[in-house]
Amino acid sequence: MNNKWPRVLLPIAGMLAWLVASCGLPASTTAATSGSSNTAAISPIVGGPGPTSASTPPADPYKLTILHTSENHGHWTPVEVSKVSEGGIARRATLVRELRAETPNTLLLDSGDISQGTLYFTQYKGAEGRDFYNLLGYDAVVTGNHDFDLGPKSLADNLLTGAKFSMVAANMDFSREPELAGKIQPAVIKTVGGERIGIFGLVTEETAITSSPGPNVKVMDPTQAARDAVAKLSAQGVNKIVLLSHLGFPADRELASEVPGIDVIVSGHTETLMGDPAKIDASLGRPSLPYPVSVNGSSGGPTLIVHAFTWGRLLGRLGLIFNAAGEIVKWEGEPIFINSKISDDPVVAQKLADLAKPLDELKKQVIGQTLVDLDGRRSTVRNQESNLGNMVADATLWATTRDKTQIALVNGGGMRASIPAGDVSIAQVMEALPYGNRLVQIDLTGADVIAALENGVSMIETDAEKSAGRFLQVGGLKFIADLSQPVGSRIAEVQVGTAVSGYVPIDKGATYRVVTLDFMYGGGDGYTMLKNGQNTRGGDVPEEQAVIEYIKSHSPVSPQVEGRIALAR
Ligand SMILES: [Zn+2]
Repeated sequence: MNNKWPRVLLPIAGMLAWLVASCGLPASTTAATSGSSNTAAISPIVGGPGPTSASTPPADPYKLTILHTSENHGHWTPVEVSKVSEGGIARRATLVRELRAETPNTLLLDSGDISQGTLYFTQYKGAEGRDFYNLLGYDAVVTGNHDFDLGPKSLADNLLTGAKFSMVAANMDFSREPELAGKIQPAVIKTVGGERIGIFGLVTEETAITSSPGPNVKVMDPTQAARDAVAKLSAQGVNKIVLLSHLGFPADRELASEVPGIDVIVSGHTETLMGDPAKIDASLGRPSLPYPVSVNGSSGGPTLIVHAFTWGRLLGRLGLIFNAAGEIVKWEGEPIFINSKISDDPVVAQKLADLAKPLDELKKQVIGQTLVDLDGRRSTVRNQESNLGNMVADATLWATTRDKTQIALVNGGGMRASIPAGDVSIAQVMEALPYGNRLVQIDLTGADVIAALENGVSMIETDAEKSAGRFLQVGGLKFIADLSQPVGSRIAEVQVGTAVSGYVPIDKGATYRVVTLDFMYGGGDGYTMLKNGQNTRGGDVPEEQAVIEYIKSHSPVSPQVEGRIALAR
């Protein structure tokens, strides 16, 4: 079995050596993995928390290992990225079991957004997440914004009923929501190896806008809620406190410097990649932050922030040693890559196989009708306005209505198949939009909207088949481009739709709420100007899901080519 484990055994062996060598010693090996030089609130810790612990080593240091995941988003089966098979709940189960066997005093935690994002959620509504997390023995999770997507009753019925793990959220008031009152606690105390660990949760305030918690759930200020939770746990004699956060890494970093008494923040929501660039597999990208990020609070030990990226492709593993005062005196750890070198846990694999069977039927399910052929031909979507493109753009606007989006920009290259008039199945939509791109909402200036449109028409070829995928399909605006002009000065006119005055000329200095795709927001297809966007939200609703829901609620659809894009060739 060991020969299957080259990537995993190393960290386990390293961990064991560290545990054996480290008892009672001041931290000396931690500097390499702590801190960041570009923010004043964060400074590397060299040599542990200070002379006190060095001169008077704690009598009985307590060791705890935190295993953690984030942003699973329904990815129970492995995903293939750059031809590498990554993630998979059955592999995760094996890895967790092995790590538990090697290191006592272990907590398994998740920072929310467990199920939404794949057909498993469409079919099982989060109940599958509950079953998998029960099988793996998760100790606690925080409610992610998307765990509310089907409303409080569905969250209660599917993810919570029968859950053997705790769900925590300290900045949400459920007292007026009968479906959830008493089922989600602000904080819980878990006893691990004879020591009590306080675990509380925080959820992004965006939840009310980006999900469906309903009118009865109140979302409160996370900083005040954190202060209250720490105070309550401390009053109960708990001096080791873990925050499960679905606020996102930047907010976590601020919180860590503002609220004393938090030892570890298991972060989520921002899909942040942390780790040693030399060790992180290239298919995951390049981490810009160390694992963990250490923030020096105003008192006591550091606050360590960890985030395990996304889709269960990494399992975070943070080893800690606490002194008698409950301060972290030493830490060690790294995210472990979950790939095909880790074998499937047979029980979890069987459960997954059972749950996967009905999905093939689901894909055949008819979600509505189209009265017209939806044109997804390459020569159309990359060269001119397409009625499929219009419908996709309109669906992204519709799916983000609550965020008051005005303009949709989606790349034609993401559309890969046509759908003929007649019944439309889920499988057909997935074939037309196969990339799993996610909706991202940003505030963008008129000037940057025009720059995006310029980029969209910058690589149109005479041979339509050779045109680039960056060509935009749009919603909420119409534009004229003169392709005889040089690249960068082709957009001749842009008009933005308004509810009151119809189409009006775009104002370069004004700000518009734009919905686009994560691929483009990340600079893909040359859309670097989207990085200028402010008030970024979303990043987790798949484009194809928005279209599926749009067809369901608008059927029969009959999108037309209606003059949104006029090209002078
Ligand atoms: Zn989220």
